[in-house]
Formats: sequence, C-alpha cells, structure tokens
Amino acid sequence: VFISFEGGEAAGKTTQMQMLRDHLVTERSVAEDLILTTREPGGTELGRSVRELLLHGEYVDPRAEALLYAADRAHHIATLVRPHLVRGGLVLGDRYLDSSIAYQGAGRELEPDEIGSLSLWATRGLLPHRTILLDVPTETLDERRATGQDRLESAGGEFHATVRQEFLDLAEADPERFAVIDGMQPREVVHAQVLEAVGEVLDL
Ligand code: C5P
Ligand code: MG
Repeated sequence: VFISFEGGEAAGKTTQMQMLRDHLVTERSVAEDLILTTREPGGTELGRSVRELLLHGEYVDPRAEALLYAADRAHHIATLVRPHLVRGGLVLGDRYLDSSIAYQGAGRELEPDEIGSLSLWATRGLLPHRTILLDVPTETLDERRATGQDRLESAGGEFHATVRQEFLDLAEADPERFAVIDGMQPREVVHAQVLEAVGEVLDL
C-alpha cells in the first residue's frame, strides 16, 4: 500500500508521517521493515543530488525543473518504492506527484495536466492508494517557514497561495484518493484524523 503526504512546507507532513509510522509499529505491531518512509525529492542517492541542485543551486528553467523532479521520481519509484510495494510493504511518501502538479504545474505556470501526465509516464502510472493533504493557510506557512533556507522557501506569498489552491482543487477532483485535513489543529488531532483516513486502505 502506498500513502502520500502532501501540503505546503511546514504543514506537518514529516511529523505526521513519523507519528503514523510509530503508531503502526508500537500499537499495531506492524514489522518495522515492512514500512518504508521516504521523500521526494531526495529519496535515493540520485535524488539527493537532484534535490541539492533544485533547492540550493542557481535559477533553473521551469521546464528543466519539471523534468528534474520527474527524473527524481522515476528513479525513486523504480528502485525503491515499487520493489517495496511488490514485497507487500507499506510506503509512506513525503510528497509525490501532486506536489509537482501544484508546484511545477500551477506554481511555475506550466500545464498542471501535462505535469501530471509527465509524472505518470515517469512512474509507469503509479498512484497512491491514499493521499493525505495537510492544508494550512498560506499566511501560517509563511510564519512557520520564516527560518527556511531553500530557494522556494523564500518565494513570494502569491506563489504559495497558488500552490495551496491547486492542492485543494486536486483533492476536490479525486475525493476517493484524497483526505484533506486541517493542519492548523493540534498535532494529536491531526494524527487521529490521519489514522481515520488511512484506516480503510490499511485495514486497521
Ligand atoms: O517538503 P520538503 O522540505 O521536502 O520540500 C522541499 C522544497 O521543495 C520545498 O521548498 C518545496 O516547495 C519544493 N518542492 C517543489 N516541487 C516539488 C517538490 C518539492 O518545488 N515537486
Ligand atoms: Mg518536511
């Protein structure tokens, strides 16, 4: 089973993934090696190089950026995620294709549909069984992100508002896959809602 976590920076994706993992291991006795927690960009060695280029390098042309994210994703899925799924494992992903549709598609003003198709080509059509969207107002993200260091973390509020809206539109278009959770709530409350959202696909 593949579950992705999406949302703006500092929305709580990494924290909630960790809380879910801990819950499954300690409360549900899921074997630790059955759970792969990973991230994009940067889930593989190649991906870490791509991440460095994208987030700490010079300006990157938007189409080149979209292709680099797609390259990271193709390699990540082929070498890490799909093999784990084939072994019957659970994959918790910190970002997946919806991030590209929102950031490279809507944010960078490429075609969201084309970016989605590019990702599906790159991954041979792999979609998550469930996607948790942690939604936080853009102004709050701006505050949480105030200490951020990377290229996009210093991008303007309008960019992040566009990205947020695209995530919400994607969720609205596919309510079967998405669960939208209000990331402004206390983290224990968010955690409880995450458990509920994954309960169906994980048979909890
Ligand atoms: O959430 P994380 O810290 O991994 O995000 C790293 C940076 O990469 C963020 O600034 C995020 O906006 C950006 N990003 C992006 N396009 C993606 C994935 C992440 O611009 N497809
Ligand atoms: Mg994070």
